[in-house]
Amino acid sequence: MNANVATSAPMYDPKYRGRLAPSPTGYLHVGHARTFWTAYQRARDAGGTLVMRMEDLDPERSRGAYTEAAYEDLRWLGIRWQEGPDKGGSHAPYVQSKRMHVYTSVWRRLYRRGFLFPCKCSRKDLEAALGAPHEAYVRAARSNGKTEPLDDEPIYPGTCRANQGFVPQLPGPHSVDFDTPRGMNWRFRVPDGEAIEFVDANLGPQCFTAGVDFGDFAVWRRDGTPSYQLACVADDAAMGITEVVRGADLLKSTARQILLYRALGIEPPQWFHCRLVLDQYGRRLAKRNDALSIRALRQQGRTPMNLLGAEVPLSA
Ligand code: GLU
Repeated sequence: MNANVATSAPMYDPKYRGRLAPSPTGYLHVGHARTFWTAYQRARDAGGTLVMRMEDLDPERSRGAYTEAAYEDLRWLGIRWQEGPDKGGSHAPYVQSKRMHVYTSVWRRLYRRGFLFPCKCSRKDLEAALGAPHEAYVRAARSNGKTEPLDDEPIYPGTCRANQGFVPQLPGPHSVDFDTPRGMNWRFRVPDGEAIEFVDANLGPQCFTAGVDFGDFAVWRRDGTPSYQLACVADDAAMGITEVVRGADLLKSTARQILLYRALGIEPPQWFHCRLVLDQYGRRLAKRNDALSIRALRQQGRTPMNLLGAEVPLSA
C-alpha cells in the first residue's frame, strides 16, 4: 500500500525490533492509524520484528473492549505483528498489567543507585505550589516551544526533593522486604540545567533542558502502579526494542526516558516520532474525537488507504 505516512525507510536489519504500544483507554483514531502504520512499515522494511504491547496500566480508564477494538482496527488497516498477547513470543507477557515484576525490579535498581526520592505531595499540594493548574500546564507547554505544547506533567516545584530515598516507614535499601515501593509517590531527580539531546530519525535534532523543559518526574504512584515513563523504558529495554516509533506528543517524554536509560546503564533505542494529525481547529486528535476514530470512519465506508492517505477529511 502506498500510504502517505512514512518517510525514508530504515536500513535492512533483521535484528530490528519495533513495537506498537496502544493504551486501551478509548478507540484508536486517525493519528494512531498513521503512527502505527509507520511503525509497521519500518519494521517490515527493515526485515525485522514488530511487537504488540498492550499498555493497560491505568486501571480506571483501561477497558477490555478497547483492547479488542485496537487489535481489530489495526488488523483492518493491514498492520501485522509477530509477537504480542495474541501471538506469544519469547518476551511474554505482552500486557503491562502482567509485568509488575519487571517494573519493580527497575524501580529497585533506580532506587539503589540513588536516582529516586519519595514524594508526599498530592496533586492538590502541587497545584498550590505551582499556582493554578492551568498556568502550570501552560508554562510547561511554553517551555517546549520547539515542538507541540503537549505531553505534560507540570514542572515539579522541588518540595520533597531533598528526601534521600530512605524514609522511616519504608524498609531500607538492604532489607529483604524491599519488593514493593508502595504507599508513596516516587520521583526521578533530574540533572538541573543539563541539555538532553538526541537525533530523531524523522524530526531531526532535538534538545530539552532538564529542570526547564521538564522537572523531577513521577516513576511510581502511591496506588502501587509504575508511571508510563518507567514502564515504557522497562519494557522497551526488556523486549529488546531497537527503534521506538510514536507520536511527536511524546518527544519530551523521550528526553525523560533517555535519563532513565542512562541511570540504568542501558543503551537507548533509536527514536522516530511521527508528526501529529490535527483536527480542523488545529488541535491534536484525542481519544475523545470519536468522529475521527478508525471505527467511525470505517463504518462510514472509508478504506485503509483513505485513512492513511492525505485526503482524510478531518472535519468528519
Ligand atoms: N501507550 C502510549 C500511548 O498510547 C504510547 C507510548 C509509547 O509509544 O511510548 O500514548
